Amino acid sequence: MKHQEALDYVINKLEELSNYNYASSIIYWDLETGAPKEGIRRASTVLGFYSGESHKILTDQEFNKNLDLLLENLDSLDEINKKIMIEIKKDIDNIKKIPLEEYKKYSELISKAQPIWADAREKNDFSLFLPYLEKIIKYKQKYAEYKGYKEHPYDALLDDYEPGMTVKSLDIFFASLKKQLVPIILKINEKKDFISDKIIKVDYDIEKQKEFSVFAAKYLGFDFDRGLLKESAHPFSMGLNKYDVRMTTRYTIDDMQSSLFGTLHETGHSLYEQNIGEEIWETILGTGNSMGIHESQSRLYENLVGRSLEFWEPIYPKLQEAFPDVLSNVSLEEYHRAINKVEPSLIRVEADELTYSLHIMLRYEIEKELIEGKIKPCDLPKIWNERMKKYLGITPPNDSDGVLQDVHWAAGLFGYFPSYALGSANASQIMNTMKNKLDVDTLLKEGKLEAIKEYLGENIHKYGKLKDPNEIMEISTGETPNSKYYVDYLIEKYSRLYEI
Ligand SMILES: [Zn+2]
Repeated sequence: MKHQEALDYVINKLEELSNYNYASSIIYWDLETGAPKEGIRRASTVLGFYSGESHKILTDQEFNKNLDLLLENLDSLDEINKKIMIEIKKDIDNIKKIPLEEYKKYSELISKAQPIWADAREKNDFSLFLPYLEKIIKYKQKYAEYKGYKEHPYDALLDDYEPGMTVKSLDIFFASLKKQLVPIILKINEKKDFISDKIIKVDYDIEKQKEFSVFAAKYLGFDFDRGLLKESAHPFSMGLNKYDVRMTTRYTIDDMQSSLFGTLHETGHSLYEQNIGEEIWETILGTGNSMGIHESQSRLYENLVGRSLEFWEPIYPKLQEAFPDVLSNVSLEEYHRAINKVEPSLIRVEADELTYSLHIMLRYEIEKELIEGKIKPCDLPKIWNERMKKYLGITPPNDSDGVLQDVHWAAGLFGYFPSYALGSANASQIMNTMKNKLDVDTLLKEGKLEAIKEYLGENIHKYGKLKDPNEIMEISTGETPNSKYYVDYLIEKYSRLYEI
């Protein structure tokens, strides 16, 4: 090859970069799952060191010279190397656009803001967090200008999580959700007691919950020789690479759903990481695609599979056996209805499948207007409560259960929330196509989850970041993201369950 030397140089440096990322991830995993609280003192310095070294590599002149040479001769590269160079260039361009001093100041602000937010939430005092939030929003507005955008400053923020996503398409997406879902939610509100979930809100032995979580992960196809399941305060998944995929859940005695569906959700993320194609697993492309694609896999397993009657048919006896005190006299149908109860609630992470996307819509609208400067941070508690009333019919009794509930803004994650709703929508679209090609219901009834995993592996997982999110959707469904499947699925399912 003509530019073999340049290619070797860049690949070598990327290997170094990936070593730093690997080490940082292990430290992060340790901090979340076992390290003593005070351990952060030294760990944060080490993390800072690795991030500095990574920054040095990406901004190094020699590295950029070689990279640019390759970018000028992209056609001489194979598909994988071509995509690697394009992706790394995007990262570098973004880094270069933000003045280093400002980025450092922002990192400090974020690390200070998170404990302040936690304190404000605990004391139910929004005014403690407000000055930090104001600064974070100011930085995000500036960041959007540095990064650049075509139509809307919020587009620049969205692009960090969902490349190519815009306010224009999200406005259409959420408008259709609002128009079609709010009426059915209000109707269900009138039939509140039609479905009871009292069998869910009782004590389930924690040890048995743990055993069942491991069983469920294995049942979906998670490979424990290439992965772990541990506990953490906030469940998450981490794909170091396809041979080391780690995930967590949390166990609460009187909320078995939280651990069980949390495990199904994280297993969805983790199967994705375990199924990355062999030819890209050691490159920067060897991980899940955008947030919206990643989240489609977790939600597909958590909701479309995990909350279906067919899924539980073969394994419900096992669940009854694990929790005989609670479930021995509860029929499969009754259990299935209970895990699908709809109830507008204050807290996003506890929301049911139907009302969930409206929690996201609320955050999307607010973020967009904050970045536009249309609303002021000091008015947030009032605006939050008004819109909760309008969309979900309930008003938070305090800010802790309202505007202060999520850590995202304190962590500077503006533009992140929409991915959750996009993920759910993508999941429905992917499932719709899968059902045209496979007899999914029969596979579930027969406990053949392997076939579903293989299908997703072949149509989505193996590509990692080799394709763009829209290309992944086109490959797996024949069209770009279309919210119709999501809305249709929700309306069909919940009209049937609630007989409306
Ligand atoms: Zn997730």
